Amino acid sequence: MSPFLAQLAELCRTERTRAKWVIVPTHTLGHTLGERLALAETGWANLRFTTPLDLALPMAAPFLVERGVDPAPDGIGPALIMRLLLELPATVPTYFRALAEQPQMAEALWATLAELRMAGITATALPRGAFASASKHAELRALLASYEEHLAARGLADRALVYREARLHPDLCPIQPADLHIEPPTIIWSPLERRLLDALPGTRVVPRALALPGLDVPRRMTSLAAQVGGVAPAPTSNAERLAFLMSPQGAPTSDDTLTMFGAGGREAEIEEVFRRIARTGGRLDEVEIACPMADQAALVWEKAQRHEWPVTIGPGIPVALTRPGRALLAFGEWVAGGLAASRLRRMLQSGDLRLDAEGLTAGQAARLLARAQATWGRQTYAAALGRLLESLQTRAADPEQSDDARARHAERAAQAERLKQWATELLALVPEQSPAPLWQWLDGAVAFVKTFARKASELDGEATVALTEALADLRALGDLVRPASDALALIRGRFDGLTVGGDRARPGHLHVTTLADAGHAGRTRTFVIALEEGGVFPALVEDPVLLDAERKAIDPALRTSEDRAGEALYRIVSRLGGLGGHVCLSCSGRDLRQARATFPSWVLLQAARVAKPADLWTYDRLMEELGEPVSAVPAEPGQALSDAGWWLAGLRRADASALPAVREGFPALAQGAAAEAARDSDEFTVYDGLVPEAGPHLDPRVSGAAVSPTSLEELAKCPFRYFLQRGLGLDPVDDTEPNPDVWLDPMTRGTILHDLFAAIMREIRDLKETPDPARHGARLRELGLTALARHRALVPPPSDGVYEREERELLSDLALFLKFEAEDSVRRRPLGFEVAFGGATEGEALGRREPVTIDLGAGLRFELRGRIDRLDRLADGTYEAVDYKTGGAFLPGGLDAVFAGGRQLQHALYALAAVELLRETDVQARVVGSYYFPTTRGRRERQVRPASTQAQATVVLRDLFDLLAAGAFVHTPNQDEDCRFCEFDRACGPRAAERARAKIERGDNDPLEAYRRLSAHE
Ligand code: SF4
Repeated sequence: MSPFLAQLAELCRTERTRAKWVIVPTHTLGHTLGERLALAETGWANLRFTTPLDLALPMAAPFLVERGVDPAPDGIGPALIMRLLLELPATVPTYFRALAEQPQMAEALWATLAELRMAGITATALPRGAFASASKHAELRALLASYEEHLAARGLADRALVYREARLHPDLCPIQPADLHIEPPTIIWSPLERRLLDALPGTRVVPRALALPGLDVPRRMTSLAAQVGGVAPAPTSNAERLAFLMSPQGAPTSDDTLTMFGAGGREAEIEEVFRRIARTGGRLDEVEIACPMADQAALVWEKAQRHEWPVTIGPGIPVALTRPGRALLAFGEWVAGGLAASRLRRMLQSGDLRLDAEGLTAGQAARLLARAQATWGRQTYAAALGRLLESLQTRAADPEQSDDARARHAERAAQAERLKQWATELLALVPEQSPAPLWQWLDGAVAFVKTFARKASELDGEATVALTEALADLRALGDLVRPASDALALIRGRFDGLTVGGDRARPGHLHVTTLADAGHAGRTRTFVIALEEGGVFPALVEDPVLLDAERKAIDPALRTSEDRAGEALYRIVSRLGGLGGHVCLSCSGRDLRQARATFPSWVLLQAARVAKPADLWTYDRLMEELGEPVSAVPAEPGQALSDAGWWLAGLRRADASALPAVREGFPALAQGAAAEAARDSDEFTVYDGLVPEAGPHLDPRVSGAAVSPTSLEELAKCPFRYFLQRGLGLDPVDDTEPNPDVWLDPMTRGTILHDLFAAIMREIRDLKETPDPARHGARLRELGLTALARHRALVPPPSDGVYEREERELLSDLALFLKFEAEDSVRRRPLGFEVAFGGATEGEALGRREPVTIDLGAGLRFELRGRIDRLDRLADGTYEAVDYKTGGAFLPGGLDAVFAGGRQLQHALYALAAVELLRETDVQARVVGSYYFPTTRGRRERQVRPASTQAQATVVLRDLFDLLAAGAFVHTPNQDEDCRFCEFDRACGPRAAERARAKIERGDNDPLEAYRRLSAHE
């Protein structure tokens, strides 16, 4: 029991009925001290734990109320200071104002102003001579004056005013002259609090505290903390000898009350602490874990949640770790990221969002959003989901679908409808215009937290309330008009230091606290974690608003950076010295988040000296003492806290002979290992894409299903991808973030250009004119602008600058196209544009709804569907099926390749199709295929493939169909060319191309014979 607690117990015995006031900084500490006395079997009566504010309020309130003054809300501070700073008259010199809108600046200014106020300093008392900068003094003084005027004008009293008023009415103090009062030692109060405490009636009892040898009493403690009676330490165990931390002396005891260890990382350190707690077999409420920094407590909390151990967390959990906190942060990122659908999908998948839509789970909503192919921007959701809804409704009404399929589509359509409604409501929370008044952003954020964020625990409920209140504090700035980025930064800033679930030590619960508060709960076993150099004590950094020299000159009671470090040292060493019981100190050797090595704090070195003063201690010796860093995996399976830990601990010592047992226990692992071994071999197996059963379904010669040239080229590029897409019907999940420098992706740009080329050429053809930039340029430009505006309504560009650049480039390509057409018009006469076969014909005379049948003899007969970009009649009477390419002059396999192993097929297949389409008008039609690059990047390249290649096409097609028939869906061996833009890469595992190469090269992998032949068709 600490000297102070023992003193309280003694007071309770000697002054049984007298009112005994214990003035504590928090009610939590008061409760804890009261409980400890009771647990130590000290009965107490009339022992009153109170804070200075509890005393000041009844003394000040009647007079403040009489004058119509209300308490000022605490949390409003930073927002109010930001506002007051921005509203300072232009005549006031500028110092901090340039940074006024940074949330951290407002927090720092508010903290300093609050400190000045609690030191009793007013604007008029702020001395000019204390500041090196006249502007800084003038602005800070004006700001303080403005704050004082704000309070006066609105009839508000902050804490400083309450304390000042309280001191004027000592007769109203709840403490009576006959009472006793005492303060815990080492609490440094603010000057106004100190003045009130010094003026209290009653008998002041001098608190007792351990005298800590070698530790200097901090400067401000002598004037602002209670005077104490020092008690010389008389340790009976090594743990109690920590009172000698700063000056190791005396002989150690032979016990195990002071231990230490090092860990490979924080996770491993906390896991080891939990293992040690479990090993002792004691009760959880005998244990406390102390962390130097409050945020480290959250890691312990997470671990306790995982192991389902009851736990109380003194400093609470950062609200950013709760579901509503995470959801609001993700909402902010979604808004800042241009409302990208990929982010919204991830938010839905995270489980942090709530969908109050019957029959629609968050997972289903995420999948529907992916199917809808929404991109980003406000408009994309209604447009994309509307399109999906329409298509599902059409399929649900399609009589050619089975009853089951129709019912499935109808159900999905209903879900899409609900999702569309939900997305509309969500988007309504985001102001349409940016900049917008801050209140709109705040209302949106509050409504989001209340309605859209999921709450699955009491902590989430608390977080909702805390966030709502924290955002309400910003209302003071509600009418400021701010762009999204500023408003979101302000909202994010409210998360700083906001915690929930903070609680005192309770029966049945493990307790986690900060090192500065360690030991108050009096637990018999304490683990002090995270004792790394640089991480235990505050850094010697000056306050960003008031420098040390300025603080000293304004009022010596203000805390300098040296004071902060010295006071923290005193507090922590005094807490360690008073722990007693069993103490285990630990550190981590690695910061895994920042990927850097960390080293033990000097606290550990001193503790080692305390435990073994006879040894010569250096850091190397300390590392030896700490031993091999413990890992998250226990040394023995029996120490494991989870199934996974048990298995990993066993495997750590096992050799390969243990594998059969593991695989028997986990059949899925056995299956995975077999698959990996097969993939690593040079044999082509079912784990590499061999699906013989799929052959008849996918071979168009057998199935009769129509195929397109594009799909066959894809098959040639990567059979595995073909199987995923066309065999299994999978779509890749598009979770790429929008590129802030790009609006139109190459495919969208290509589609728009194709449509515009066809539109202008059809108009020219229908007017029986020849292309002429002077006559048709304006019309093509108009069509281009309309198409871009239409697309912009669906997918907003990342910025006006990007839009203007891409608009300029597209219009330039259109003008170039028309110029080339005018120059070519003597040699070629276009007959048809976007000539479809096996789809909507768009009024093209040559098109047809049905696919064309290609019969190349010897059983090579199949249905072909597609769309020829353009069919020209050339001056010599032959025809050319033109395929536009709107990117750079590039073709798979190179411009010189003819078939490139089947990757270039369109020229041959479109020529074959065109012969069929022209048969009614020209039975002798001779058609060649070509690739045409009519844009700036394409440099007007035209690659014509002669008709003679059609005989070779037969061989290529036969090999492709044989590949399908064999069900040999091997991965492409050409990773550089084929995998670069492939979105299925996550389905392929490591070294897919390298593994595929080995299998293709092995001659007796018969199913791959057709693939080997294919690669010979250059
Ligand atoms: S990543 Fe490469 S191997 Fe995998 S599916 Fe795509 S193209 Fe084929």
